[in-house]
Amino acid sequence: MLNIAIFGAPGVGKGTQSAFIEKKYNLIHISTGDILREEISKGTELGMLAKSFMDKGQLIPDDVIINILEKIVDKNLKSEGILYDGFPRTVKQAEALDVMFEKKGIKLDSFLCLTADHDTLVARLLNRAKDSGRSDDADVNVIENRIKVYNESTLPVADYYKKQNKCVEINGIGKIEDIFAKICTEIDKVK
Ligand code: AMP
Repeated sequence: MLNIAIFGAPGVGKGTQSAFIEKKYNLIHISTGDILREEISKGTELGMLAKSFMDKGQLIPDDVIINILEKIVDKNLKSEGILYDGFPRTVKQAEALDVMFEKKGIKLDSFLCLTADHDTLVARLLNRAKDSGRSDDADVNVIENRIKVYNESTLPVADYYKKQNKCVEINGIGKIEDIFAKICTEIDKVK
């Protein structure tokens, strides 16, 4: 079973690349952001809780997100593999993932870190807001807070995986197909 994480700041292209990766490698795509947005649209208790954080560009508490993730991983242990998009987003989540994987006898095969500069991220998110209908993409203040939270709480996750020699940095600026080709090269190395 192949376990790949796609990582990077909001707007770096994780969702776009995930759609291609999922198809080519027949992976289950777990986007924690998508799961939370679905809960919000269904009006569940979890959705209401998530909304209160997402509207401000803050992260949902670690224990809540780790719980959700473990349930989905359990359901898909017989799949060819899982693509983790938007998780882990804190070192605590990365540590919990390691513990969870060890328990299940699996491991993270590669941690793909997409990069882009601040102004590109902001421009892409504002552009995405026109189609996505995501309120957290339409408000510059929320975008800036998401990038700040990324730099402070999420970026240390890349160091966590660098220490395990699993972190691969890929430039997220360029043609979508060129970026995808670089991603495939990395996945093929661990597959
Ligand atoms: P995304 O769709 O990945 O940009 O996520 C949108 C929002 O969902 C984030 O700004 C967070 O509020 C929340 N979220 C998604 N994934 C996580 C996670 N792994 N940990 C905490 N919050 C998350």
